[in-house]
Amino acid sequence: MKASKMLISTLKEAPQEAKIDSHILLLRAGLVKNQVAGVYQFLPLGVRVLQKVENIIKEEMDRAGSLEILCSALQPKELWTESGRWNKYGPELMRFKDRHEREFCLGPTHEEIFTDLVRNLVKSSKSLPLNLYQIQTKYRDELRPRFGLMRSREFIMKDAYSFDKDEAGLDQSYQLMYDTYTKIFTRLGLHFQTVLADTGNIGGNGSHQFMALSDIGESEIVYCDDCKYAADVEKATDQLIATPKEKELPLEKVETPHKRTIEEITQFLGVDSKKTAKTLIYHDYMNQKLVAVMVRGDREVNEIKLVNALNSNENYLELATDEEIRSIGSYHGFVGPVGSKVDVYVDVEVAQMSNFIVGANELNYHLKNVNYGRDFTGIVTDLKKVQAGDLCPVCGRPLKQERGIEVGQIFKLQTKYSSAMNCVYTNEEGKNVPMVMGCYGIGVSRTIQSIVEQYHDDAGICWPILVAPYHVVIVPIHYADEDQRNLADQIYETLNAQSVEVILDDRDAKPGFKFKDWELIGIPFMIVCGKRSAENIVEFKVRSTLEKKEITSDIAIQTVLDAIKNL
Ligand code: ATP
Ligand code: MG
Repeated sequence: MKASKMLISTLKEAPQEAKIDSHILLLRAGLVKNQVAGVYQFLPLGVRVLQKVENIIKEEMDRAGSLEILCSALQPKELWTESGRWNKYGPELMRFKDRHEREFCLGPTHEEIFTDLVRNLVKSSKSLPLNLYQIQTKYRDELRPRFGLMRSREFIMKDAYSFDKDEAGLDQSYQLMYDTYTKIFTRLGLHFQTVLADTGNIGGNGSHQFMALSDIGESEIVYCDDCKYAADVEKATDQLIATPKEKELPLEKVETPHKRTIEEITQFLGVDSKKTAKTLIYHDYMNQKLVAVMVRGDREVNEIKLVNALNSNENYLELATDEEIRSIGSYHGFVGPVGSKVDVYVDVEVAQMSNFIVGANELNYHLKNVNYGRDFTGIVTDLKKVQAGDLCPVCGRPLKQERGIEVGQIFKLQTKYSSAMNCVYTNEEGKNVPMVMGCYGIGVSRTIQSIVEQYHDDAGICWPILVAPYHVVIVPIHYADEDQRNLADQIYETLNAQSVEVILDDRDAKPGFKFKDWELIGIPFMIVCGKRSAENIVEFKVRSTLEKKEITSDIAIQTVLDAIKNL
């Protein structure tokens, strides 16, 4: 490809909305262009990367025996009503009506569609197990679209769904997808960690996420170096440190003027935050009620665990307003469980504490020496967010913490959708039984940006060669110079003939300008034809290491051929 014929739209400065390196670089390199919040267009160089990533995913899915199909993004409401998700999914679901007032959504995921297809197409157990996948555009009206392709409102996903006769079959299908995802992310060059995950909106009872490790990741992971336990913080549990119960002291009301936060209380009363418990009031819009939630003073509530305990939805859960707190006879900053007018959800750790401090539900007062069982009761369950230093639930050693970008997730759905939607097969006894399902997603566009996040430097992107938009660029210092032009053209033709993806920068521009462009875009190799072109000597630059050396054009060509030989 001649650079003069390409749509190169590199930018000196990143647009203001871009906050993280990978987003800045995708925009500056002209791989994608922003339209409105959370909506991006892929430009020619971006499409080449996208297609390469998609091809790797397809190769591995095909190898695992999954069959590719392609479904519409338009999904009729009826299917979502059948599965029970039309109401449950929340405002992220983009809904609309057609001219006949018929309701639709733009698919955020495709469980309903695949289940509907399979219940209509498959009747005999001979067709099972079956695994179908697609690479297709998804829509989610995210509350906060941000970080470019990381969290957009329209994005590309690979989603797959497996249908088995029984649980044992699902276990095998799930393991095959787990292994396939491991191969895909390894081939893509991502540094990633596989973690136990919550099942969220999708449902079912077993799940793993694939996390690209990165400080800018929105997900928190805890893991154990000793036994390899690793989990998303949303899912993570720990082992409680066994502390013997103290002798229960008499309940006491203490004045705490204007002391609302745990920090203020601990300072004012001179106690450790571990001797306090905080009570938060949540509004559960799904079940239309207010609830009180308690965790130890130095802890945070894990809202996903709370959603599960309430059988609610994270889109329908919010912290109550001061007014709502007043409506149940309490005061912001002084809320407590004793005499609570609403259900109290108590973290297991709190139920085991002795003589702790809580709000008194009275302005400017707290209660001292509170004990679960004696002074209040509630629904005791695991509600806290696990953090570094907590004990591994498997081996009891301290957990560590890091951040990750969720690039993929796999779920055991079991019969959640097949039962609700009557997706059945006839077994040997002639009985109709629901198929046992799994579903498996990869965020294709998010994966691309995660690669950039892990592979870049100050000058730009450093694509792993497998997914680079082109393998090599030839830059003549002065294309008008005859020796330089001859050598550049000759290298270009030789590489083209060997199916190398090569660019010849024939633009009439300063060499420094050209170098900057290619470094920003991240082409893995650069061959510069300069003063020594008449001797067939070029400068060969490696993008990832910024290493450069003078070599003959033949050696340069051979180096590139060797690098792409095993792609
Ligand atoms: P998240 O927790 O980040 O919102 P999710 O768990 O809701 O994601 P899934 O339903 O598991 O997402 O979708 C499968 C994959 O699609 C995710 O692992 C992620 O890589 C990708 N994905 C999900 N939402 C988005 C989005 N808004 N923009 C880009 N990719 C996304
Ligand atoms: Mg997920």
